[in-house]
This record gives sequence, structure tokens and C-alpha cells, in this order.
Amino acid sequence: MAREGIVTLKRAMDLPGVPNSGALLETSTFPTSPPLPSSPPSRSVAPVPLTRYCAHVTKEACRAARGTPVCGDVHFRKIHHPWTSHQAGDCHFLQLCRFSNSTCRYQHWELDDTLAEQGKRPTAPPLRLCAEAAHKVPERLRAIPEPQWICCDLRPKTFESPFAFADQHPQTSTGFDLSTLGQFGVICMDPPWAIGIDVPYDTLTDHDLRELAIQALQDDGYLLLWVTGRAMESGRRLMTHWGYKRCSEIVWVKVNMMQNVIRTGRTGHFLNHTKEHCLVGVKGKPPRGVTGKPPDCDVIVSELRESSRKPDEIYGIANRLWPGARCLELFARQHNVGKPGWVALGNQLEGSEIKDPRLLERVRERYPHAGF
Ligand SMILES: [Zn+2]
Ligand SMILES: [Zn+2]
Repeated sequence: MAREGIVTLKRAMDLPGVPNSGALLETSTFPTSPPLPSSPPSRSVAPVPLTRYCAHVTKEACRAARGTPVCGDVHFRKIHHPWTSHQAGDCHFLQLCRFSNSTCRYQHWELDDTLAEQGKRPTAPPLRLCAEAAHKVPERLRAIPEPQWICCDLRPKTFESPFAFADQHPQTSTGFDLSTLGQFGVICMDPPWAIGIDVPYDTLTDHDLRELAIQALQDDGYLLLWVTGRAMESGRRLMTHWGYKRCSEIVWVKVNMMQNVIRTGRTGHFLNHTKEHCLVGVKGKPPRGVTGKPPDCDVIVSELRESSRKPDEIYGIANRLWPGARCLELFARQHNVGKPGWVALGNQLEGSEIKDPRLLERVRERYPHAGF
């Protein structure tokens, strides 16, 4: 009952016509990386372009406030279902609401954006591998343009293979041998931390994580490690254990489709969680970002998507830390796969795809019966 009260509390910030106020609007309309106006187009390091949201929310309100015509910023349109109650206020889950098409009586919204419908709204350019940058990277760390992924377990599993097709290799009892992968300029991971709450996937204890052979993956490079709850402390200890010095920390401020900060009342014991943290560790002496360009900002303001899914901006930040270097994502899910220059590993991936002949040779040699 009390929980229902929290979830359905109406906030001034959500009132139609007040999409965001004051400083937050300023923050949320900044691009998440510095603009590079003098850069040639379609480089792998291109920043996310600025998208502006109209403070009047709807085109009708915009027109009424400005006179005609409406402004060129992004507007929203109310969705009217027979069960929608116009006194109830906005749904806190908006487009992520599971009941928006059935029973949810709160207000839902959709984009009302003519430019986007015409394909003219600038969106983030897809990540591309910059061949020029890759040529400056030592050969063993040089990325290839094709995305690669391997479906495998990273944690030791008794009597099972690190691969999904376990029956072919039943005697193996360890996780995938990370030393097979070679070295990487940047590693990113969102481990399935065992943080004492029920989650619908396998979790790893701190002990399991300490045992991961991360040391083999980098002599010089960066580690981006997502942490949450209790893992904020264990993540720092793990970084030290794996041989990294924490050099920075990225904060992701979660916003919904209306660009309001997320305050669902669902997460956090003391304060509502509206942000997540990604520790940035450095090992050895890797280069520091794009030569002659300002470094990325350590704040990402980005929309919340499916459960556990992190914002795509993190890949741009990783690529700009060491342009052209091989990147690795551990504990990846299928939605993380497909980035040029990246190798993704995880036990929920659909099959495996190895394009780098040297990597393929090493994996075949290490796992001759796994069918690569
Ligand atoms: Zn407007
Ligand atoms: Zn809803």
C-alpha cells in the first residue's frame, strides 16, 4: 500500500508543460561529449549530436505560447486510450510501462516529431572504426572493423563447458580462458554482481570475479567497470586486485522519454536511485584520448531502456579513450553485440562470430572440440 503510494505520487516535474525545470534542463540538453565542429564527418570518434526538447512539450502548447509556427525542437503527443484517466498524471514508466496498452490508467506519451518522421532529425552516428586511428595502434592491439562475439561462460562451472554446447566438452570445469583472446586497449564490463537481490540471471560472487584472469588482457589500457549498490566498494577493490588505478568515474543520469530524471520509487533503500556509476581504471601507460581534442565529459544523460541495459554513449567514450584499439566487453548481452572493433563475451549471446584470423586460430587451438 505504502509502495503503491510512492509509485503513483505525482511530481511537479512531471506535470504537462513542465518537462524539466532549471538546471536539469540545461544538463539534459547538453551533448554527452564535446562537439567537434572542425572534425571531418563520419569518424568513429564523432560525438552524439545535440537534441533539444521543447519546453512546452506539445505542439499545441508551443503554438499557443509562441504564436505560429511551432519551434523546431522535439515535441510529444498524448496517447489517449479509453482507460486513460486525464486526472491521474503521467505514468512513471512511460514507454517502458508493461500495461500501457491494457490497463495502465496513467498518461503515456509518444514523440510528435515531424523531422524524425522525415528522417531529418540528426541522430548519433553509428560507431565506425577509424582506419587512420587504428594504424597508429601497436599491431597486437589493432582493432578490426567487424564486430565479434563468443557465447561462453566466464565463471567456473562444475562439469560443464564454457560454451553453450556443453555436451561436446563435458570434462571442462573452468570458465572461458581469457588469455586466448589476446590484449585490448579498452575493456568494458557490467558484471552480474551478487548484490543480495533476486535477479533473473546467474550472478558472480566477489570471489568468482577476483578469479577472472583480467590481468592477461591488458598491459596498458583502460577498464570501464559498472558498479551498483554494494559493488561500489567491491568494484574498487577488484580494480586494485586486477592491477588498475581508478583514474575517473562516469555517472549516468537516467532520464525517461520526456527527459525527466527517473524517480520510480522502485530502487534504493534510502534515496531513490536516479543514476549509475562506471569506474574508470587505468593500467600501464595507454594514450589519453584523441590527440588535440578535449576529453569526454564524465556525465552521461541518457534514456533508460530495458532492465540492466547501459547507455550506448559508453562505447563512444571507450573508443575515444584509445581510438583504433581493440575493445572487449565482458558479460555482454545480445543488445551489446555489433560494435565495430569490439569483441563481446557472455553466456546469453546467440552463437559466436570470430572474424580475426589470429583470434580464430588461438581459440581453435585452445578449444579444438568446440566447433569454431
Ligand atoms: Zn516547441
Ligand atoms: Zn503506464
